Amino acid sequence: TSMPSLDPILDPHALARALSGVHLIDGALVAPVEGRCFDVINPATGAVIAQAAEGTAADVDLAVKAAKRAQTAWARRPARERGKLLAECGRRLLLHVEELGRLVALETGKALRTESRVEASVLADMFTFFGGLASELKGESVPFNPDMLTVTLREPLGVVGAIIPWNVPLLLMAMKIAPALVAGNTVVVKSAEEAPLTVLRVCQILNALLPPGVFNIVSGDGPGAGAPLVSHPDVRKVTFTGSVETGRIVYKTAAEKLIPVTLELGGKSPMIVLADADLERAVDGAVAGMRFTRQGQSCTASSRIYVHADLFDAFFERLRARVDALAMGDPLDERTDIGTVISPEQFARIQDYIAKGRASGATTTECSGLPTDPALAKGLFLRPVIFTDIAPDAPPAREEVFGPVVCLFKWTDFDAVIEAANDSPFGLAATVWTNNLQKALEATRRLEAGFVQVNQNLVVQPNLSYGGVKTSGLGKEATLESMLEHFTHKKTVILNML
Ligand code: NAD
Repeated sequence: TSMPSLDPILDPHALARALSGVHLIDGALVAPVEGRCFDVINPATGAVIAQAAEGTAADVDLAVKAAKRAQTAWARRPARERGKLLAECGRRLLLHVEELGRLVALETGKALRTESRVEASVLADMFTFFGGLASELKGESVPFNPDMLTVTLREPLGVVGAIIPWNVPLLLMAMKIAPALVAGNTVVVKSAEEAPLTVLRVCQILNALLPPGVFNIVSGDGPGAGAPLVSHPDVRKVTFTGSVETGRIVYKTAAEKLIPVTLELGGKSPMIVLADADLERAVDGAVAGMRFTRQGQSCTASSRIYVHADLFDAFFERLRARVDALAMGDPLDERTDIGTVISPEQFARIQDYIAKGRASGATTTECSGLPTDPALAKGLFLRPVIFTDIAPDAPPAREEVFGPVVCLFKWTDFDAVIEAANDSPFGLAATVWTNNLQKALEATRRLEAGFVQVNQNLVVQPNLSYGGVKTSGLGKEATLESMLEHFTHKKTVILNML
């Protein structure tokens, strides 16, 4: 299959068509072995924008074999040479920020200005960051016996299988493949069926710099392409981001093979607002943290907000006003703040949670307004919902909705609110809003979460350890430590000098 031009292609529809029907294996865009494809849908209109190759075990096998062939030579390159190449990948991707932002907006429905363009620019940063860490792939000498030279070497694991979801496909893929590649592994990515195009474009752009076979992508669904990747005998490590349910399946297969896994799973993250908090700042934090601009489709979404009784009414009113003011519309339109939900299945799932919340007797406030443009009549737009007076065990208060649904709880007792925040199977993120240093520190220590932020709500950044505890995951990402822990092993070497 002929390659689309490597110059930035700013028309996302043209780019989507040019990327139709192929995997990227061994440096080439190739049709699926069994010849089947599936539709890629624009969630803002319901229109088919491209075909994606439906990967099967046969495609996965070709990709893993290519990655295995490429791995020895890749690992033998000096680490800094790999690092320089990865940094060059970061620079190259910067030339494509606008292109990638538009394409990911088209296939996921995430608004270009508020979400998609931002994601495309952080992507490059992950490559630059991990490229710079190449010289840290060093071992140590061990004072074991004066007659022996004992050292450790950091060695790659081999072929890494990476499975990613659709909500932040570029960034989540970069967090996996950049450290894996710098460490001397080669990778096969299984993209998400809802968002196969932009990651494929990234792979194509980077294959112009990397040797063939080092970075491969197979598209397809979970059972058809994801499962054979995890179970493939030549895959020596699996790194997965997605739901708890699928994470369990992946972990079981990996356990059978006895290979290491990294799992980044779901969340139901609490936000705690104390009575002395700066109200405006906290409301800004709630709007950003809940990711309304992405229809709430964020694993770290601040979906349980605990507001002190003194501030509750004012907080609710301001939150409602702020979300009302967000403009829902065509994700590619610069005026749009909120885009769409990803798929009809997710749309129905979220609506079901909203219905369950209503049925539980919670007070339901719908915000913002649906777009009026007839071209978007079939779009998966959903009005954000704020639940108040909701029981903590009602399904939308307890389970991950992965949609624009937030639950507000009123509290008066500090110990009780910490307990309520921790009363969840998840432990991904948490935020605390207060000017009381002692209370902030106490909450930070007591909250069960992979990361806790006080008076702010930043998103993923290179060098900040990212990941959850409890059922939110296993292993952290985005740091030097995570690269060493998850993508290398330490080999002990003893030289008898006598
Ligand atoms: P999902 O688990 O349905 O799918 C994720 C990926 O796994 C997809 O590529 C899918 O094709 C693949 N898959 C499905 N079945 C498989 C199987 N049997 N074997 C191997 N692979 C299989 O999740 P989703 O709906 O795409 O994503 C949403 C979920 O991801 C949410 O729960 C969200 O919280 C989570 N998430 C977590 C993080 C994090 O970093 N912790 C980040 C983003 C999303």
